[in-house]
Amino acid sequence: MKKILLSVLALLPFLVTAQDTYLHCGKVVDVKSGKVLTEKTIIVSGDKIKEIKNGYVSGGEKDKSIDLKNKTVLPGLIDMHVHIESESNPKTYINRYVQNEADIAFESTVYAKNTLMAGFTTVRDLGGSGVNISLRNAINKGLVDGPRIFTAGKSIATTGGHADPTNGMKSDLMGDPGPKEGVVNSPEDGKKAVRQRYKDGADVIKITATGGVLSVAKSGSNPQFTVEEIKAITETAKDYGMLTAAHAHGDEGMQRAILGGVKTIEHGTFMSDATMDMMVKYNSYLVPTIIAGKQVVEKAAIPGYFPEVVAQKAREVGPLVADMFKRAYKKGVPIAFGTDAGVFTHGLNAREFGYMVEGGMPVMEALASATVTNADLLGMGESLGQLKAGYLADIVAVDEDPVDNVATLEKVTFVMKNGTVYKNE
Ligand SMILES: [Zn+2]
Repeated sequence: MKKILLSVLALLPFLVTAQDTYLHCGKVVDVKSGKVLTEKTIIVSGDKIKEIKNGYVSGGEKDKSIDLKNKTVLPGLIDMHVHIESESNPKTYINRYVQNEADIAFESTVYAKNTLMAGFTTVRDLGGSGVNISLRNAINKGLVDGPRIFTAGKSIATTGGHADPTNGMKSDLMGDPGPKEGVVNSPEDGKKAVRQRYKDGADVIKITATGGVLSVAKSGSNPQFTVEEIKAITETAKDYGMLTAAHAHGDEGMQRAILGGVKTIEHGTFMSDATMDMMVKYNSYLVPTIIAGKQVVEKAAIPGYFPEVVAQKAREVGPLVADMFKRAYKKGVPIAFGTDAGVFTHGLNAREFGYMVEGGMPVMEALASATVTNADLLGMGESLGQLKAGYLADIVAVDEDPVDNVATLEKVTFVMKNGTVYKNE
């Protein structure tokens, strides 16, 4: 009797399972093969895809159906480079003196929601104040609507380098930030900075290997770390299961980053053919952020939007990114989709697809880079980035087949993350 009771109890969770959701999909993009399949039913149970069936199949009485027969369905998109805490505006340079952490936190929830609603169900945040870690946690707890976040916390810079938090301040405010604040000047500092980020709860390490456009500093491209410093950082990061991403515009800084063990090169503006060959050899990924280049040029044309030292760099650096991408793609450099959203309005991320296609990359390859490639780089290749039984139910839909019209990706009409529907127009 006891035995029977126990086996009934063991069955109980299966008897009372919540309803499944049956998505009737007119077209489904298989990002791995690059093929568009027709008339499929994706069955979602809990936070996962349970099964994908041919044709339109209905579930039981308790199950729910969603009609996506006129849509093209894709895996949730992944952006490898965002700054979810902030969004460019003319007050950006004043904000750091007037905003409290709580102000940043409230604003970041809006950016997170806009990102999710645009179909980006996962993002990698490459640097903010540390609020990005709390935001990730709040989203994971279900308190805030937003994408799944993998975050670098605060990026690591060198003194006066891009992402030194006191760049451009008057001298009595400059202080002398150290590894805790993300400023390092030796391999030892580098190790400490990585361990501090691990302690803070970061998922990935970001360094600023060269100057940057938006920092109040003269050069947008000089190398700012030694190879030894970079090696100390990437090797320590590896001990904690973290990959290292490097912001880099200048060629020398990029080469040092690749030699130092960095996995993804962000921007890559002045990348030479020799460096492209190195990227291929070391299997380092370019995160092109073409849209960021276009957007800073537009903003630099608005008087007073940027400080003059920044506007000048924006005009010089911005237009080069698209051409560099064209050459890198032709050379076979591995490409990971990423935009630098935050440098421009969150939610416009998908415009990058159009720029990638303009740069010679077929739309299916661009979609693969934003799904399978990025999932792999996040260590989530077995559970994210594809529509497949057993994978997390991150599913989006658009009105048209992106092969016919890439711009359709900018108008995502259906968003599901972890099996929950956030948008269905
Ligand atoms: Zn960035």
